Amino acid sequence: MSELRSAIAGCKSIGLVPTMGALHEGHLELMRRARDENELVVVSLFVNPTQFGPNEDFTKYPRQEGVDVSLAESVGVDIIFAPPVEEVYPLRLVTISVAEITSLFEGAVRPGHFAGVATVVGKLFHMCQPHRAYFGLKDLQQCAVIQAMVTDLWLPIELKFVEIVRESHGLARSSRNEYLNPEDRQKAGAIYATLVDCAAAIQRTKSSSIELEKARIKLTSQGFGVDYLELVNPDSMQPIDQPDEKSRLIVCARLGGVRLLDNISCAITN
Ligand code: AMP
Repeated sequence: MSELRSAIAGCKSIGLVPTMGALHEGHLELMRRARDENELVVVSLFVNPTQFGPNEDFTKYPRQEGVDVSLAESVGVDIIFAPPVEEVYPLRLVTISVAEITSLFEGAVRPGHFAGVATVVGKLFHMCQPHRAYFGLKDLQQCAVIQAMVTDLWLPIELKFVEIVRESHGLARSSRNEYLNPEDRQKAGAIYATLVDCAAAIQRTKSSSIELEKARIKLTSQGFGVDYLELVNPDSMQPIDQPDEKSRLIVCARLGGVRLLDNISCAITN
């Protein structure tokens, strides 16, 4: 912390990209945006224990710090902050929790997950003192949670949400894609294809329930387990029936024991 504090002292524009490492093109895109918009770019590499449930993949989460440092340096990152757990959680007495937005979807499937996320991001904000912070729309509910935290706590930080970077066949890039076998990884491209078709049908019909059900059936028939597939307001993360100028289509589909999240815009202009 003391090294970090002296490195950032007096800097007029700091961009922070919080990550859990195992970097891929999605993370690098956030870093490129931060590089374009700030004098100093800080990337945190921290696999945050408090956002994993007791039966989740905290211990097997991919860790490759040496590779991550080279990747971050290749896009011009100035500071890589990879603190030990004890430094981030000296007392473990403080938690930030965000209500309502976390009641459904990932919040319902993973109790305590978003309190872990909000707490660690709040801590990273205090530690790194960024002027701007960069998050991927891949984790749409996480974006809504962080936005609510920043608004409700009056944090003087500008949030930037960056579009999803995909593999060539459409699968949203994710560190957890490494858990898929090659055949499933190929097959997982069907998630994006289904979202695209479903969004187009909702935009055309201006109504969602039948189209959502068709898309769920389509994924299930291809061997996916569908945890949820809904049309939502991206700020409140509540389901809506009719598309509007902000609505997004979100999905969590399971394949080979891996939960794959994705979402796309399903906006209409009136
Ligand atoms: P993680 O290391 O998975 O916690 O992700 C760190 C940040 O990268 C989060 O803000 C994610 O939303 C973002 N991110 C992960 N995958 C992608 C992607 N495919 N496209 C854009 N951003 C992403």
